[in-house]
Amino acid sequence: MSVLKLKNSYTRQLEVFEPLQAGRVTMYSCGPTVYSFAHIGNFRSFLFADVLRRVLERNGYEVRHVMNITDVGHMTEDHLADASGEDKLAKAARELGSDPFKVAQHFERAFVEDAKALRLKIYRGGETDDPELHPRATGHIPEMLAMIQKLLERGYAYVVPTGEVYFSVAKFPEYGQLSGKNIEENEAGARVGVREEKKDPRDFALWKVDAKHLMQWDPHSDKGWDKADYGRYRELAPEGVDKTIKPGFPGWHIECSAMSRAHLGSTIDIHTGGEDNMFPHHECEIAQSYGAFGFTVPGPHGAPDEHHARKTFSRYWLHGRFLLVDNKKMAKREGNFYTARDLMDPVAAGRKDLAAKLEAAGFKGGRVDPLTLRYALISNQYTQQMNFGVDLLVQAKASVERIQRCYERLREIIGPGTDLDIAETASDKMIELVDKYEREFDDALNDNLNTPNALAAVFKAINEINAMTLGKAEAVEAMRLMDSFDEVLDVIDRRERSGILTKTEIEQRLALPLPEFDLLANAELDSAAVAGFVALRQAARKAKDFKRGDAIRDGLKHRGVMIEDVPQGVRWKLE
Ligand code: AMP
Ligand code: ZN
Repeated sequence: MSVLKLKNSYTRQLEVFEPLQAGRVTMYSCGPTVYSFAHIGNFRSFLFADVLRRVLERNGYEVRHVMNITDVGHMTEDHLADASGEDKLAKAARELGSDPFKVAQHFERAFVEDAKALRLKIYRGGETDDPELHPRATGHIPEMLAMIQKLLERGYAYVVPTGEVYFSVAKFPEYGQLSGKNIEENEAGARVGVREEKKDPRDFALWKVDAKHLMQWDPHSDKGWDKADYGRYRELAPEGVDKTIKPGFPGWHIECSAMSRAHLGSTIDIHTGGEDNMFPHHECEIAQSYGAFGFTVPGPHGAPDEHHARKTFSRYWLHGRFLLVDNKKMAKREGNFYTARDLMDPVAAGRKDLAAKLEAAGFKGGRVDPLTLRYALISNQYTQQMNFGVDLLVQAKASVERIQRCYERLREIIGPGTDLDIAETASDKMIELVDKYEREFDDALNDNLNTPNALAAVFKAINEINAMTLGKAEAVEAMRLMDSFDEVLDVIDRRERSGILTKTEIEQRLALPLPEFDLLANAELDSAAVAGFVALRQAARKAKDFKRGDAIRDGLKHRGVMIEDVPQGVRWKLE
């Protein structure tokens, strides 16, 4: 297998990937700010990280992937060098007439549903509920304050009379190396909303004070704290922090430095984000982590890598280029803004116009299957800007159907109960085909995640497989190849397509916790999930709430699952 090469944004070079510890990779991805539904641009960045992680796994690495949830401190103007603005969560809470904690909880839940539908591996299996892999900023205030204190003690930060804390950029000459922004540009950016109390316009806030903000932590008492967090804070900073720091909330940049260190250690292998994260966000993360923790860090062979700022925090930086829609930046006022759920279920998202447009383009019920959306968003190399439009979805749909049809044919040839070891008797031609295209697929992905070339290998393989008359042994071998492609692509629908839930099975299911009706809109409807909703309907009927029972049946139908009462129980079928 070819060696994995990745373009390191820090050096702007294609580098052979080598983790710090043999066989293991630590990777941190900047996650969503949960003040609204994630849009397809956000998901392009998250899916690029997902593909990267899967490619690392194909290369034999055990990957620990952390992606945070930003639920405080990300300001509306944070894309500029520490300008001010309003906390995005506070703004959303004001507009929705809710409180920011509730807003965050609501949109985090929606994000997880979308992420599952789009098959982000970090929301699969045991990783789904592991809080260490999905750290929330509001749950890491102790780590942030302890880091801020370290920065103060080491002379990298200062407190101003308002009680806020700033990082002193002049102390870190490497500031700007990642983004390649020169000092003048930095200063121009920083001039927007410059605070008088800053020593240098480039300095950025580590801790903010705003009496009106509803999310507040007092660094000098337990006021505003979750009890367990406060206990941890006392342990991490037994002497407390500088007495002149006032109650407030963290800046966005310190969050990722602190959460990444808490869950992956001081030096990580890979850090990802979208191209807009490079400056100022990641530039600030590097400065903070360097300032607080390190001067020398061991290199891959144990040799110290002295005064090498980039290696202090993350050894490889990868940034995904932006997704444009109709060649323009996505913006609500341009009418070209799509959340993932707008496309997956436009009617439920209140976008009837979009549903009609998609229906006309061949999408049944106006809904874009999440696997089609996943495919569309990973079909271009992350180093290229990507243009999104209905055409792209139409092509993606055809491609996913081609992959799925090939898989279905193989499944039919193999039939149920076949011993999969019969592949040993497959023809040399098939064995060569599998080797060739698996190698082409890996070579393309190992070449800095060149997904278009990887997909070209997939379709060449499918064309050849489709043109062959296959016996069972051939089909088993071909299916192995398709399964292997799907470790990265993950667009094959492996669900059972129909079944009967007997009365006894429904009774047994009723004894377990039932799913929430709200989740039906986005749940991945495999047989287990269908059983849950059928039981929920049964519970409603038992309670003589027939309206609710019908609503559940209609909801299932809307998601393509038909149910029918039969003497044995309930027959279900995926359309
Ligand atoms: P946010 O929720 O604003 O914190 O953004 C989450 C992630 O989405 C970040 O890594 C951004 O870089 C990324 N992102 C935002 N807009 C786009 C876009 N149009 N295309 C690709 N990635 C984006
Ligand atoms: Zn971040």
